[in-house]
Formats: sequence, C-alpha cells, structure tokens
Amino acid sequence: MANIKVMNRVTKQELEQLYLTELKSTREIAIKYSCDKTTILDLLRKYKIPVRNKGGGGKKHVLFIEINGVQVESKECTGCKMVKPLTEYDIGTKGAGGRQPKCRLCRRSYYSENKIAILKKARAYYYKNKSQITLKRSLNYYTNKDRLLAIRREEYYLNREERQQKARKYYAFRKSIVTAKERLKRKLNPEKYRAKERERYPRRKEQRKHYHKTYYQNNQLAIKLNVKRRKTKVRELPFQLTVQNWLDIQERFGQECALSPHRKDLTMEHFIPVSWGHGGTYRGNVYPVHCRINRSKSATNPFVWAERSDVKNLIDLQKWNRLVMILAQENNLKVDEFRRFVDWCESNKRTVEQIKSDPRTSLEIWKSSSPYILNNDDIIEDF
Ligand SMILES: [Zn+2]
Repeated sequence: MANIKVMNRVTKQELEQLYLTELKSTREIAIKYSCDKTTILDLLRKYKIPVRNKGGGGKKHVLFIEINGVQVESKECTGCKMVKPLTEYDIGTKGAGGRQPKCRLCRRSYYSENKIAILKKARAYYYKNKSQITLKRSLNYYTNKDRLLAIRREEYYLNREERQQKARKYYAFRKSIVTAKERLKRKLNPEKYRAKERERYPRRKEQRKHYHKTYYQNNQLAIKLNVKRRKTKVRELPFQLTVQNWLDIQERFGQECALSPHRKDLTMEHFIPVSWGHGGTYRGNVYPVHCRINRSKSATNPFVWAERSDVKNLIDLQKWNRLVMILAQENNLKVDEFRRFVDWCESNKRTVEQIKSDPRTSLEIWKSSSPYILNNDDIIEDF
C-alpha cells in the first residue's frame, strides 16, 4: 500500500521543512510524493504538526525588499505571483499585513473581467438579505452616530472648497431638475417646510443680518448703479454705465465733487436732467457732485443754473468750465455745440411715449434736426 510506503519514506524534518517553512500545501506535497493529499494530512497528524485552515495555503508572509535603497514592506501576490510592496495592495482583513491577498492590478483586472457577474451576485445578495442588511446598517449608524457624524463633519471641512465646487457644478448641470424636484417636495409637504422655516428664521437672524451687511458693503456701487438703472429705464432713456465706468469718472475728478472741493456725500448727477426726456445715464452725461449742489440744480438748465448769483458762491468756476469741456468731449462735440444741444433738449422735452416711439438717442435726433444743420451751414459760409 502506497500509504505506508510514503509514511516510511517521508521524515518529520522533511515534512516540517515543506509544510511549515516553505508553506507548501498538502496538495503540492502530495504531488511531490505521488500520493493522495489525505495521506499527507494523516502524516501531519501523526507527526503532531499543526494543520493549517483549509484553502489558500495560508497567509503569505510580509517580506522586506529594497526599493531605491529603502527597506519596504512587501509580499507575494496570490494572483500574478510577483513580490510587490504593500502599498500596491488594497486594504483588507483577508491577507497578510492588513492587505488583500491579490495586488491591486490583479483585483482590478478580475473585477473588470467579471463585473457583470459580481454586480449581479452582490445585488442578489442585497435583495435576499435586504431587511437584515438595512437593520444592521441602521443599528451601526445609531450606535456610532456621534462618531460617524464627527468624521463626516471633519471630512466635509477638510474638502469644503472642493465639495462646494462639485455641488455648484452639479446644480448648474441639473438646475431645472433639481428645482422642480425641490418645488414638488415643498408642494407635497407644505406644513413640514413651513415649520422648518419658522424654526430657522429666528435662529439665523444674526447670520442673515451679517450676510446682507457684507453684501451691501461689497456691492455698494453696483447696487447704487442698479437704482439709477431702474430710474433711467422707467423713463425709457439709455443706460450705458458699468461700475468700472463710474469708478473711472470719479477718478477723473480726483475723487472730489466735480464743482466744489467736497470729498464726502457725493452723488451721481445727470447734466441733462432725466425729467426732460433726454440724455440718459452714460459717460457723457454723469459726474459726481456734492448732494447740496445736486439738490440746487435739480431739473434746471445747467448753463442757466450756473449763472445764478446764489450758485456762483456754491461752485468753483474753473471746475465748472473743466466739467463742461470734459462732457462736450465725451459727446464728441465742441463746447458751444454742446451748449446748443443742451438748450435744444430743454426746449424739446419728451414724454415717455415719445421716447418709446423713437429709438434714436437725443444726440442723434438733435444732429438730424434743423438747428444743428443750420448752424453748421453758417460756419461753412463764414469761412
Ligand atoms: Zn498580482
């Protein structure tokens, strides 16, 4: 009988060398001695050698290999049989060193080759044991709630920027769907959302206050310009002024009132009053002045206003001349032309309906009207 023959042939030292040191499996040893693996098992028991658990041939040992002169923990992959550093393995409790038995590449290729089958199996398992799994998960969640939430919060704050960016991107991509979903939710549960709002409102009062305050501080100019835009648009007049334009204009007047040395309480003034139905809000018609000067001028003709005795004490004549020159330049007109244009505007005031019916700007209308052509003919005749 082969059984006894083998038993007599293999010594204890030989078997220990093969099974314990070289970590050969009983099957591999059996092939070597051309016998059945149960014979080897019997032999192991006879020699009182501890038998390993079934399957896999036991854990691979963690070895040290040298990479770039550094000793690195590594082990043999059970898939490709190559010795690789532990960092090449996914974390897992199955293998040695707290890593998976197969290297990442092997696992990945196995997954991609058997993806459908794996997913099918996992899904089948999930639906078969759904109640048990969900129970286990919720139990785990509630017993470790504080810890889990703390981890989640910490993770959120660590990757806050990235998270917010992602969320913003996702929102922009699916905006209509997201808002529709949210609206539907609110429609189905109005009481719940109202209660939520009621609870939130006083709690976030301070936060809201702070937000509005900082928003106003950061966008002060844009907000003020928007007010002007609305006022200009109500009269159907053109609005062509960016925040940068207005900053440039203020810079041009040295951050001062355009007509006095005041540096505070400045407001935007329209040279041609908006109430005339002419001009509008654009570079050639607006400039910064002190609020008192603004109030004094209001809707009067600026050239008439500037010659009034009470105004002469209020404004600087040199500054006035400079302002008129700048505005004329912005409108591509000579100073006397500009004055004639303003006078024409005063004597040809328009209602909102009239402005609506003619899309041309005041300057364009004036240029195509008789006084402008007549005057220019005069000049030509003079030469
Ligand atoms: Zn491998």
